[in-house]
Amino acid sequence: PELTQALLYLDGVSVSFDGFRALNNLSLVIGPGEMRAIIGPNGAGKTTMMDIVTGKTRPDEGDVLFDGRVDLTRLDEASIAELGIGRKFQKPTVFESQTVEDNLLLALKGPRSAAASLFGWRNRVKASELDGVLETVGLAEHRARLAADLSHGQKQWLEIGMLLAQDPKLLLVDEPVAGMTDAETEETARLLTRIAGNHAVVVVEHDMAFVRALGCKVTCLHEGTVLAEGPIDAVSANERVIEVYLGR
Ligand code: ADP
Repeated sequence: PELTQALLYLDGVSVSFDGFRALNNLSLVIGPGEMRAIIGPNGAGKTTMMDIVTGKTRPDEGDVLFDGRVDLTRLDEASIAELGIGRKFQKPTVFESQTVEDNLLLALKGPRSAAASLFGWRNRVKASELDGVLETVGLAEHRARLAADLSHGQKQWLEIGMLLAQDPKLLLVDEPVAGMTDAETEETARLLTRIAGNHAVVVVEHDMAFVRALGCKVTCLHEGTVLAEGPIDAVSANERVIEVYLGR
């Protein structure tokens, strides 16, 4: 794969757990501001790939480079997060007893300040930053509501907003539309499309209608490596993709 122009560059990445090869010579290149959907059957290695990028798991072999030539395999999770890699896990994790606005303020101040008092922060955080994130994630009208009172979809958008508040170069998003209504799913595709361009977004998802709505390049993983990659129409017409994944 091409290293020049890559924001995230994985080449020949392999990792085994107790002799089971979860990733097997995986190569993946994500450009700055690119949106990419990752699909594939359970056990294909999607989660392991994200664990490698965020420093949770160390590869046995291969290169994992970010933003030029920063070797992610040598960094711990906190340092990788500070480089500008955000990760959204499947279930929403927001501060339920805080308002939408205060959740975002906590994120704007940085996770390490989360234990500190909320009071006085509004003055120090640029109001425009907060308004920008609220607008992007479609929660401007709900800024004063308690997070606990939001719908499941709105909580997911709030958490995406909390990650955006830290201005990541790369956002890894794991099955964002699981449990969402159709309307929420459509809104999530629009939201992520708005974000991409300013931030690279890698979305792992099983919902093929949603993947189609993202309108981006698709990578199908199988047995720890790339089975097919390209536009959704080509990937979903690929015989092997149908055999191992879509035809289930
Ligand atoms: P996916 O996210 O595509 O469903 P995973 O990356 O979760 O796939 O898993 C790939 C394979 O590696 C699975 O068979 C899983 O059981 C195994 N695996 C993942 N992480 C670990 C781990 N920490 N220890 C042992 N096995 C693991």
